[in-house]
Amino acid sequence: MEVTSPYLPSLQKYLGYLEGIYARCRLTNNGPLVVQLTERLEDYLDIRNLVLVNNGSAALDLAYHALDISGSVVTTPFSFVASSSVPAWGRIEPSYADIDPATWNIDPERIEAAIRPDTTAISPVHVYGNPVDDARVAAVAQRHGLRVIYDAAHCFGTRRAGRSILDQGDASAISFHATKTFHTVEGGAVCFRDSAVCERARRMINFGFDEATGLIVDPGSNFKMSEMHAAMGLAVLDDADYILDYRRELVASYRRRLGDHVQLQHIDADVTNGGGYMPIAFADKSTCERVHRRLESLGITTRRYFHPSLDTTSQYARFGETRHSRDVADRVICLPLHTKLSLADVGVVCDAVLTSLREASSLAAAVADIA
Ligand SMILES: *Cc1c(COP(=O)(O)O)cnc(C)c1O
Repeated sequence: MEVTSPYLPSLQKYLGYLEGIYARCRLTNNGPLVVQLTERLEDYLDIRNLVLVNNGSAALDLAYHALDISGSVVTTPFSFVASSSVPAWGRIEPSYADIDPATWNIDPERIEAAIRPDTTAISPVHVYGNPVDDARVAAVAQRHGLRVIYDAAHCFGTRRAGRSILDQGDASAISFHATKTFHTVEGGAVCFRDSAVCERARRMINFGFDEATGLIVDPGSNFKMSEMHAAMGLAVLDDADYILDYRRELVASYRRRLGDHVQLQHIDADVTNGGGYMPIAFADKSTCERVHRRLESLGITTRRYFHPSLDTTSQYARFGETRHSRDVADRVICLPLHTKLSLADVGVVCDAVLTSLREASSLAAAVADIA
């Protein structure tokens, strides 16, 4: 059982889009399918100012550039490496604030202590699609005159109080990578608060050209999404309701079965999770590793996502030392979650987790007896 598997829409439908592309012979440069996908995503997610780009890391990078961030950024070490590697690649140093041990998101209380004289932004991550408390982040940002760039890579379909969370902060970057809930094979998007910044970003992804005049008016590079990628997005978007509902059902089933036996990520009651990931945490590192190996031996792939905590890696160790992030990273695994998985498969995975937990505790008891 794979931990993840990309969703493939109807081939017939995808071919229909490709035929259109062949007929028009327009492959990229803000073509009609990119325009159509932009509009349909804004509509589906109920947001404005969305810019499509060629991957989620480029989306983060674009947000940093469009908002003129420099110096250092306060972020979390409990994330996929891109949350730190993208700013660092742009010579913006991460400065780590520790996570909340219940939500596994950056702890708003700890952001202030990580602000340096050269800090110009805060970049929280909605970890596994669990929304950060935006009001508390915004209060810190306002007090210190900082921009807020959300790494919302996991947040397609996440809602709080019925509303998308992608319009929070100055910008939110999403990933449409093949393994994410909604995808365009490779792709991503940024959602900007300010429409003037959004217009600037649209020029920046095309070398800084102003489309109307042909003049180079902004710094820029090439972050454009192709028509082939937009075609995949349009075909997958037709099935987005089904994908989200199905994944949420699997997550609910996992959480019901395992909730009394493992630590689950705390998710506020007013949040509709996007069903992106199914993380669970064990009591300690050795139990986590034992269950991980046991499931592997049964042909059930799990991922130690996000292990190790970035503040323990050679590239990023100098940016902070965060106790809770290290602790959670040592204890957490993500269970299989994708649309090819049945509810019965979820049952099999849960049984395997519970069995290996019982083995672990009887082993611990035997060791204690000997001692
Ligand atoms: C997937 C991911 C990214 C990067 O997205 P790509 O589309 O793979 O470049 C960034 N941040 C987080 C938290 C992610 O999970």
